Amino acid sequence: MSSIKQNKKLTVIVPCYNEEEVLPETVKELSNILDSLIKSKQIDSQSRLLFVNDGSKDDTWNLIENYSHELPHVTGIKFSRNFGHQDALLAGMTVAVNYSDMIITIDADLQDDINAIPKMVAAYYNGYDVVYGVRNNRDTDTAFKRGTAMAFYGLMRRLGVDMVPNSADYRLLSKRATKALLAFKERNLFLRGMVPLVGFPSTKVYYARKERFAGTSKYPLKKMIKFAFDGITSFSTVPIRLIMNLGILLVVVGIGLFVYTLMQKLRGAVITGWASLMTSIWVIGGVQLICISVIGEYIGKIFIEVKQRPRYTIEQENYTESFEYKDNSDD
Ligand code: UDP
Ligand code: MG
Repeated sequence: MSSIKQNKKLTVIVPCYNEEEVLPETVKELSNILDSLIKSKQIDSQSRLLFVNDGSKDDTWNLIENYSHELPHVTGIKFSRNFGHQDALLAGMTVAVNYSDMIITIDADLQDDINAIPKMVAAYYNGYDVVYGVRNNRDTDTAFKRGTAMAFYGLMRRLGVDMVPNSADYRLLSKRATKALLAFKERNLFLRGMVPLVGFPSTKVYYARKERFAGTSKYPLKKMIKFAFDGITSFSTVPIRLIMNLGILLVVVGIGLFVYTLMQKLRGAVITGWASLMTSIWVIGGVQLICISVIGEYIGKIFIEVKQRPRYTIEQENYTESFEYKDNSDD
């Protein structure tokens, strides 16, 4: 970081999928935070909110548009359809990075305490490029969500994926960290695994996670499982190695069984064995199917990556319009 001038531009990126119920409150609260940071000269007056409408089927985009006419610091991106939370964050960063010195991503439902924002900004001025928002309690989450989340973090750690436990997609990234993140060209996005790979000085800001104050979760169990599975298979090849170990184990067991049957035959006791035969057919058949499907999962990922499809399509956008282009990049 070159100069410690406390008038850097901040863009707060908010992905929104059917969030009409929470949006008015979210706009109000985030605007207040932005205002107070601008007034206390901690961020530039050009700082803004960027709502990414991820193909909502409700009134979300109309609300964003109306707010953006009313309030100059409110801007929006409209996806042509639903692409998913991670892609919405990425689109926001791609659009905002050239106009911002730092970006913060936060969910629309304000479950993540917005009072951590000034702390994140302060950490940025202290020289940190990445500031993770970390929940110091999950009391408001259901026991089920807490349990599955913990199991997931434990599994990821064991699979060798470096993640900051209890941090979701609430974080600050400096301009150079954002650019570094955007240089990751993969289509299977798992941002919370990717950010630690970027490097740069990082720190954590703790906050208490709240209840979603309106609307329902846009992450039903099915989406959660898909997200976790994607996270694992996009980041770790340990499952492939596990299959190999399993294969070796089966071969060893097989050799043992062979020796055993041979001995039984020499003893003349061979008619038995229907049960073990049936069992092995089923077990081995099952194991093979599992193994093939895991490999298939990786091949599927390769298939998706080689296609190099665009990660999202923007239908409408008023973030860059409202900026006079000024490239003040640090690098
Ligand atoms: N979201 C999105 N696209 C989707 C699903 C969710 O942009 O397909 C957004 C959603 O609007 C919210 C954030 O991602 O801002 C997190 O979703 P939610 O709060 O429903 O997840 P939870 O907190 O229940 O895990
Ligand atoms: Mg939420």
